[in-house]
Amino acid sequence: MTRRLLRPGGPLNLRDLGGDKFQATIEIPKDADGRVARECPDRACSPGYFKVKLGTGIIGGQVHAYCPYCRHEAGPDSFDTREQARYAKDLLMREIREGVDAMTRDALGLGSSGKRKFGSAFISMEMSLKSTPVPHVRPPLEDEVRRDVVCPRCTLDQTVFGLAMWCADCGSDIFVTHVAAELNVTRSMVGDIDRRREALGLRVEAKDLENCLEDSVSLFEAALKAMARRWLAGREASAEAVESRLKKIGNKFQSIPLTQEVLSEIFGLPPMPDVPWAALNAAFEKRHPIAHNLGVVDRKYLERAQASGRPGREVRITAAEVNTLLDNVLTAVGAVHTKLFPAA
Ligand SMILES: [Zn+2]
Ligand SMILES: [Zn+2]
Repeated sequence: MTRRLLRPGGPLNLRDLGGDKFQATIEIPKDADGRVARECPDRACSPGYFKVKLGTGIIGGQVHAYCPYCRHEAGPDSFDTREQARYAKDLLMREIREGVDAMTRDALGLGSSGKRKFGSAFISMEMSLKSTPVPHVRPPLEDEVRRDVVCPRCTLDQTVFGLAMWCADCGSDIFVTHVAAELNVTRSMVGDIDRRREALGLRVEAKDLENCLEDSVSLFEAALKAMARRWLAGREASAEAVESRLKKIGNKFQSIPLTQEVLSEIFGLPPMPDVPWAALNAAFEKRHPIAHNLGVVDRKYLERAQASGRPGREVRITAAEVNTLLDNVLTAVGAVHTKLFPAA
């Protein structure tokens, strides 16, 4: 009996559609939490890689899915990652390799031993087929630098690897949820400081607090920059024009007075009295002496932050102050977001 190259069923649940067409069902492996990796079809999108938890978010009848970074809209099955495409191809190739091997054995009458003897008592010939081992199929790569976020609108449980703006299922603007999740990472670091002080000492505690302060400022800056990029992209003719305007903003979002200047001069926003700008400024200013002056305060710092204390005394930021700063960063980001993107 001649064997066909591909037989229905098997691990890929092959279906013969007729006319030499087959359909294979390949289950893409999930990570330990049941998440499946997705990738933006726009190859220019960065990082473009995310994950969704199956069974959360929009279930059934979903027409479109979205990239959480650039809001690229496409059918839900258009977000396979290159790694998954490679994995699917590898699995199919393995099936075909096995099919070719089996067909060759059949055609040559080799049977399951892969050997056949020909000839008589005088001359004998042995033919054997040695297959190289079927290649091991490598599962898709997993990334551990991740942040999990549940969409407040559609409940999709999704994982992103950068500051994202959109929900991957419903396409809603969930930027502030993403920012809150990232601020919570720093908050959990602050929550661990007592344990680390007991285990590692006071200097480690001080360094941890400095790092958490730096993180808070970086997050504020990254969030403001992301919003500025999006706002400018809706107004500038080209990506180059957007980047050149962002370049002019530079690192102004690391300073509260300069941030207020940008908000008013570039975005045309009115002052936002509900945002605790003064408290933000006092905390932001603490990082200068702490980070760059070995924890020793200078006069310039005192003038800028209007803090009490004498020059030369060590300026400490406390865990409570960092937690308040994290709250204030979220308030400020939320307020600016509402003003810049009111329809969201
Ligand atoms: Zn994208
Ligand atoms: Zn959603």
